[in-house]
Amino acid sequence: MRIKRIEVCSIRIPYQRVFKIATATYTDQPFVIVKIETNDGIIGYGEACPAHEFTGETASTVAAVIKELIGPRIIGMDPFDIEKFFANLPDVAGAPGAKAAIDIAMHDLMGKITGKPLHKLIGGRTRDHFPVTGGATLATIEETLDKVRKDIEKKIQVLKIKVGEDPYRDAEKIKRIREVVGDKPFIRVDANQGWIKPSRAIRALKLMERYDIQLAEQPILAWDLDGLAEIRGKVDIPIMVDESVHTPQDVVRVVEKRAADIINIKLMKTGGIHNALKVAAIAEASGLEAYIGSMGETMIGRAANLHLAIALDIIKYGDIGAEHEEWGLADDVGTGMKEEIINNVRSIRAPDKPGLGVEVLEDKLKRYLVEEFMIK
Ligand code: MG
Repeated sequence: MRIKRIEVCSIRIPYQRVFKIATATYTDQPFVIVKIETNDGIIGYGEACPAHEFTGETASTVAAVIKELIGPRIIGMDPFDIEKFFANLPDVAGAPGAKAAIDIAMHDLMGKITGKPLHKLIGGRTRDHFPVTGGATLATIEETLDKVRKDIEKKIQVLKIKVGEDPYRDAEKIKRIREVVGDKPFIRVDANQGWIKPSRAIRALKLMERYDIQLAEQPILAWDLDGLAEIRGKVDIPIMVDESVHTPQDVVRVVEKRAADIINIKLMKTGGIHNALKVAAIAEASGLEAYIGSMGETMIGRAANLHLAIALDIIKYGDIGAEHEEWGLADDVGTGMKEEIINNVRSIRAPDKPGLGVEVLEDKLKRYLVEEFMIK
């Protein structure tokens, strides 16, 4: 079986409200959706959700890399030859979103060809479901409290709160959230590098320690692994790196510097599932924990994230958002992930259809289309 052609659709989907983190503000989200077809007419879908503040990529650069560098090389390839796909790219540095889009589509194809859900091809089923994460992007304290109350009503028990502004204001926000939601829900904070320096991060996290924080994500600048190690030594909250780790080599550096307790794995940083497995293996072998992150993908990317979390025992936490996340995208291009209340916690069931298990809605791709082209 060979890859015959690739269709590439750049789309933009609006957010329901402005999406704000310490390093960026968005009103809508660009995606590049790829559709890879084999000579037998089987179609695999993949997605890039480019986040320039993480990788320097935009939808235009992702589309250009696929068109000029990556796409033409996979025409005629067997979709199972994923290691060969990456080995054939020594001259394409970076561009993880573009690589992820192709990687996810190849994995969707492998599942559809074998009739197996994707997680069965990358480790199997270590869990039947995964808890849904709620929480808030940067907003006022009142808006944030309003949002977490709604999450709790929906039985979401994991709250990820964006911080990284003034340490005292951030700590006050977390105090108020803990008062509103009670003892049980997990609260995570993500500063997206916003505290910049160890001293500010230590001040903020020391104030937050008493509110039972599950983990603190990327408190300071991505490159400052010595600073992260310093924070780890002084604060009693597990430290997770996100912006600091993209590749397997980055994990090795974090391990050497003892800079983190947990690695946030995102397909849009690793370049897809194949390299995410390598990142996870190094984390596991080094005694670190792993987390499945998200860039706010459509159903295609979310399903890929979920399959990885279902397959790898080391992934103990993650950001698999609710299907109709109130502060999320206003629409989606796919369906297929089942949410349920399991043991009083809103969770997503492991998909059991072949491949990603997502039905892509072609009319939605057309509605949000910016640009499309074909490679064959
Ligand atoms: Mg993060």
